[in-house]
Order: sequence, then C-alpha cells, then structure tokens
Amino acid sequence: MPNRIYLDHAATTPVHPRVWEAMQPYLTQFFGNPSSIHGFGRDSRKAMEQARERIAGFMGADPAQLVFTSGGTEADNMALIGVAMANRERGKHIITSQIEHHAVLHACEHLEQIGFDVTYLPVDQTGMVHLEQVQEAVRPDTILVSIMYGNNEVGTIQPIVEIGQFLQERGIYFHTDAVQAFGVLPIDVAALPVDLLSVSAHKINGPKGVGALYMKRNVNFIPYLLGGNQERKRRGGTENVAGIVGFGEAVKVTQEEMGERVKKYLQLRQTMLQVWQEDSIRHQLNGHPERFLPHILNVSFPEVDTETMLLNLDLVGIAAASGSACTSGSLELSHVLTAMCLEQPIAESAVRFSFGITNTLEEVREAAKKTGEIVKRLGRSK
Ligand SMILES: *Cc1c(COP(=O)(O)O)cnc(C)c1O
Repeated sequence: MPNRIYLDHAATTPVHPRVWEAMQPYLTQFFGNPSSIHGFGRDSRKAMEQARERIAGFMGADPAQLVFTSGGTEADNMALIGVAMANRERGKHIITSQIEHHAVLHACEHLEQIGFDVTYLPVDQTGMVHLEQVQEAVRPDTILVSIMYGNNEVGTIQPIVEIGQFLQERGIYFHTDAVQAFGVLPIDVAALPVDLLSVSAHKINGPKGVGALYMKRNVNFIPYLLGGNQERKRRGGTENVAGIVGFGEAVKVTQEEMGERVKKYLQLRQTMLQVWQEDSIRHQLNGHPERFLPHILNVSFPEVDTETMLLNLDLVGIAAASGSACTSGSLELSHVLTAMCLEQPIAESAVRFSFGITNTLEEVREAAKKTGEIVKRLGRSK
C-alpha cells in the first residue's frame, strides 16, 4: 500500500493530539456526572463549562446560549423540530433549500409528515440560494427558515446575512447549519441575523459524537430530547463530558491556527487546479467561483464518472468523495448537484476533495497528478 492521502475532511477529520490529550482525564480520572453535587460532579461540570465558554466565545455567543448535542445532526434536528413544534399555533410553514444536509432535509420531511408545510428553495448553477426566492416563498404562516452557511458538497457560501436581515424584520426564526463554515470562516453570532446555528466537533479535529446548537435567548423552543434537566432544560441526557472537553480544545487550536489554515487550503486548492491545467486534464470547477469554503474543492472530470474515479483513486490510496458521506456508497446522484441543474456529464463525474490541517502541498500535488493519470488512462471523449 502506498502512503495514503486523505482528502475527505468534509466527511470527518482526525482528532488533534492536543484534543486527545485534553480528553483523556475526563474518561478516567474525572468521570463524575456533571449534574452531581459532589466533588466528582463539580470537576466534570467545571471542565464542561470551560469548554462551553471557549466554544461560545469563538462564535461571539454567550455560554448560556449553547446547547451541547450529539453532533451536527442532532443540532439540526433539534433546531427544526424544536422550533416548529413550539410555534405550530403561529403557523405551519417552513422554508429551506434543496441543497441542505440530510440532517435538515430529512427533519423537514418528518415535519411534513406530521402536518407542516415545507418549501424547498432551488439554487442557481453555482449552488447559491437567492434572497428573492426567500422573499417570494415567505407566507403569513411562515415560522422558520433554515439555510446552511456553507455547503458541504460544493462549498458555496450562502447569503445568510441578507436572508437573515429580511427574516428578522418579519419576526421569522432563522436557523443556519454552520457545520462546514465553523473553523474556516469567522462567525460572530452577535453580529449575524440568525436565531439558531449548528456546529459539530468532528469536522474541526474534535471527537465524533459531539456538537452544539447556538440559540438566541428569546427563541420559542421546546426540547427535542426529553429527559433530565441538563442543558438548562433544553436537552435531556448526561452530557458527553470528555467529548465536550475535546470540542473545547479543538476550538482552541482552531482559534490559534485559523488564519494560517485558510491560507494553506487556498494554496492547496490552487495547486491541484494548476496541475490539471498544466497537464491539460479536462475539468470543470463546481460551485461558486468566489464565494466558496476554502477547504472544499468540487471538480468534474467529464470523461470519467464519479464512481470509477473514486474507486481508482482509492486503489492508489487517495481518499476523496462524491459529496456527502451519507450518499456515497449509493449510485444515486447527489441532491446538491441535481439541484444545481448541471449538465449530465458534469453532474455524473463530480469529485469532492476536501482539505485538512495535516495535508501538504506535496500530497495534493501527487493526488492531482494521479487524478490526471486516471483521466488519461480511462477517459473517453463524451
Ligand atoms: C457533517 C455535517 C453535518 C452532520 O454533523 P454530524 O456531527 O456528523 O452529525 C451536518 N451538516 C453539515 C453541513 C455537515 O457537513
């Protein structure tokens, strides 16, 4: 096996050594239940609250506005279902987009099944939702809008400020899934017109199974996970203390390195595109040419279909993806590319490379070279 090259960081990232180190004592030595009144409990609670402060601080929130969850999926579910159920007397209409993560889309489908009305907004060919579409879709009974910050498949950054401002004036709740944007774009919820925002630890070198939902103070919300009075009665269940401590440390490292990381990702991206350019490999960039998440590069090689490309990349030790981790493994075309209305050969040959903190220029150059070789070897003119 040659040295493997991991270019699928939008699916998940490795735990940073500092994160692992920070977590360990909270699995063994400090194992108390943070709800317990004794010293063991207090030790856990203290560490958890420090992490909460750190994560809240990184996004300009008050610590009390963060609810810890089991990840981005639960944060999205909690936002949509918690707000919809609490406001169902006010209205039954929800607006989202066709390019959301399945954690949002499937929660919306569930809400439809129990009597809500959902509008799924289209996007343009760059994967962008437009404010005008939101304005046209809004009805007197619209209670909630959910539009992601940055897309996980093609990287397009959505106009959430414009959309949020419009909704704020109308008193409609606005949720954004910021799982991919968190850690690569500066986020300040105090300045953003959003009421709820989801994040996840394992996309920023934290552990899997922990995330958070930021919630403005006056949001009318009912708990989604019922149990004890944890998380100020907003989410039942003993908190994942070690995971939360790890999340806090991952945010700390990200905070220190964010500027450098973004610069590096842009360089890695440029390097790959340059290799294909120089080697005359036919390719087309998917997503928006300027408003994109720096760590996501989605490209089509119209001469080789996605499946063939991914299998051949894997054979030479290169891990890339077709889009969301949940859709890979099935032959179905990604819902994001479908919504973008790309020409069939483009949509059917899209590959997502996503960068992380350990990737090097040499690695991505090699990956780009090998991708080009596959195109040359298997490519047939379509
Ligand atoms: C990964 C991801 C999620 C799901 O987060 P988990 O922590 O894996 O549940 C939600 N939304 C987006 C945009 C993601 O990339």
